[in-house]
Parts: sequence; C-alpha cells; structure tokens
Amino acid sequence: MPPVFRFAPSPNGYLHLGHACSALLNFDLARQAGGRFLLRIEDIDPARCRPDYEAAIYEDLAWLGLSWEEPVRRQSDCLADYGSALGQLTAQGLLYPSFESRSEIARLVAERDAVGTWPRDPDGAPLYPGSAKLISPDERARLIESGAPYALRLDMAAASEKAGELTWIDRGEGPGGEAGIVVAHPQAWGDVILARKEAPTSYHLSVVVDDALQGVTEVVRGQDLFHATGVHRLLQHLLDLPFPAYRHHRLIRDDLGRKLSKSTRSTGLRELRAAGATPADISRLVNLP
Ligand code: GLU
Repeated sequence: MPPVFRFAPSPNGYLHLGHACSALLNFDLARQAGGRFLLRIEDIDPARCRPDYEAAIYEDLAWLGLSWEEPVRRQSDCLADYGSALGQLTAQGLLYPSFESRSEIARLVAERDAVGTWPRDPDGAPLYPGSAKLISPDERARLIESGAPYALRLDMAAASEKAGELTWIDRGEGPGGEAGIVVAHPQAWGDVILARKEAPTSYHLSVVVDDALQGVTEVVRGQDLFHATGVHRLLQHLLDLPFPAYRHHRLIRDDLGRKLSKSTRSTGLRELRAAGATPADISRLVNLP
C-alpha cells in the first residue's frame, strides 16, 4: 500500500510561509515515496472559518504547484463521523459534561493561582480547574434538560489508566529534540474538551477520526503540534483506530523568533506573490529539510 500524506489547514486566515513549508514537505515526501497526497479543510470553528479563506487556500496551493486528490474532505461536512466517535467514548464512560462558562473557568484558575501555581498545558493554557466530573448523574441530567450549554471533556485520568503507556514514531523531532520512539504524555493536557455546543467536535477528535477514515499513514506537521500527538495517540487507542507515523518539522519563525501567525503580513503567501515572489522563491525561503 502506498503511504498517504495530508496537509490540513484551517480556513481562518490566509496561508503564510509556515503553511507553505508543511504543504510542500508533505507533497514532496509523498511524491518521493510514490504515495498519495490529500488536502483536508479543518473548518469546525464556525466563528473563525470563512469560505473566502478556503477559496484562497486552493488558489495559493495551486500557485505553489501542488495538486491533491478530489474530493477534499471538509470537516464541517463530517460531523456525523465525530458524533459516532463521541458515542464510543461515552459508551466507555470516558466523557463528562462541564457547564462552566469561559469566564467562570478564568475565575477558578485565578483563585487557584492565588494559592500556588495552577498547572498549564504544553501550549500554556491552564488545565481544567473545575469539578464537573463529580456532579451526580441526576444533577447532570437536570442541567442538560434545562438547556444549559456544556462542553464534553475527556476524563483523562480514567482514559490514560485504561490505555497504559503509549508511544509513537517520530521521523522528525519535537521542540526538545525528541525523535524516534516517543512516549505519549496526554496527561499534560488535563481533561481536554472533545466537543462543544457550537462545534460538536474538537481539533483533537476530528483530526484523529479523519486521519483514520482517510487512511493517512504519515502525519507531517509543525513542531507546535508535537505535544498534541500524545492526546491523538490516546484517542486512537481508545477508538481502536490505526495510528500513523509522525514527522514534526521545525517551524518557520519571524525575525524576532516568533512562530508565524495568520496575521503576519510580511510572510503571507499572497503578500509575497503580490511583491513578485515566484513559487521557486517560496521553496527557497522555507528551506525545506
Ligand atoms: N488544522 C491544523 C492547523 O492548521 C493542523 C492539523 C494537523 O496537521 O494535525 O494548525
């Protein structure tokens, strides 16, 4: 079976050099290995994703010289797939609803920070500080019945105990130089949200379900997602899905050493193109490994 690679941008802004690096690397590796290259649109966040950004992704990637298999999978078209994965996790007793608003969570974190340092996840966000796991089944049913909004969280302690130690193969390296067989640390993320009312899935859940349904065998993406792979390995295990090999590549940084963001104008592909850059210039700029 030929290896299957994918590039999976979110249409919440225009692509920049960091995306070009990932997309070109996936495309080149697929070609070298006689493999397949897929494009996936990760558009589960209705508040931030826009059709014009999606159109710009196709245009910019085609300009770079990439081609991909059709039809393109768009996550917003696949909510039923994520729903059935949530059903499997619910059946295992590994999900619970939490009803706090964002501001309530911020207040709880501030309270805990006042008496010590409340732990942060690898992206620097505070772990879930609430105690919704302890709400009685009757009270839970009452709150849901009342229409109170909630997020579904993974009971990380129960899930990681059930799974035991998990590893993945990294053909690239993590931010600390980790490579080869890497031990997953999903616990570092606490009780992650797997679905919200406004988006009945999450990045972690949909990426894992999609990679499996699309038969992806090689996940090539930036080092900023290295630690998230621990959660992905855990979900793959719990959902009994095959797991791909990973290659986390170094990030392109701006002159101040910061990770590029979609608002970093000077490194946007559209801006560079307007300023006369060619696709060959972009390949040179991203200095592919
Ligand atoms: N959609 C994610 C992003 O744009 C990438 C997901 C992945 O490659 O796993 O950062």
